[in-house]
Amino acid sequence: MIRKAVFGGSFDPIHIGHLRFAIEAQEQLGFDELILEPAKRSPFKPQPPIASAQLRFEMVTRAVEGLPNLKPGRFEIDGPEPSYTVKTVEHYAENDCDLWLMVGPDAIKHFAAWRDPEQILQSARIATISRSVDAIEEVAKNLPLPWRGHVDFVLMEPISVSSTVIRTKIAKGLSVRHLLPAEVETLIAQHGLYQKV
Ligand code: ATP
Repeated sequence: MIRKAVFGGSFDPIHIGHLRFAIEAQEQLGFDELILEPAKRSPFKPQPPIASAQLRFEMVTRAVEGLPNLKPGRFEIDGPEPSYTVKTVEHYAENDCDLWLMVGPDAIKHFAAWRDPEQILQSARIATISRSVDAIEEVAKNLPLPWRGHVDFVLMEPISVSSTVIRTKIAKGLSVRHLLPAEVETLIAQHGLYQKV
């Protein structure tokens, strides 16, 4: 059975934190296909994304060029707003596959507040980051009961970068070199994105 993962986010813009998590997850959990799925609008964020859905999709597309198992997804941006992960997971689970939902260190804290977390767990396992084997045991022990046994860990030191930091630096005219792929930086410059905080 094909092993597939879906990694959702605003990706406003996509950066090396997202990409290293995706690459490590693909290698460590052996995903045949890992879909990076830009959200039209996250139900958890008070403000809509700055860049349009199409531009965020293009940034993801450029970021994964040359990475054969990583692909951009457009199920959410072609659908209604806001995007609910449960629908996305059900969509990608449709074709016979073993599916994982990748959830980063911040997002996992909100997982219980997502729409239908238990329904999500019926369609997918969760893949998240842990910095060490000891930390895995600690996190696994503290997981809410319904999630126990449904979470797989990617061992890595999380990279301390966020889209907010990148947007703020750009607005201040500071360099973002090496915080995101050069192709994405070029696209941001071409479209004059993130010039205001
Ligand atoms: P913002 O600063 O705009 O809130 P962000 O950098 O947190 O954005 P999102 O697009 O909101 O990025 O995140 C999408 C997913 O990526 C979430 O699951 C989040 O936990 C995860 N993520 C964000 N930053 C990192 C990072 N540095 N390393 C690993 N995962 C990350």
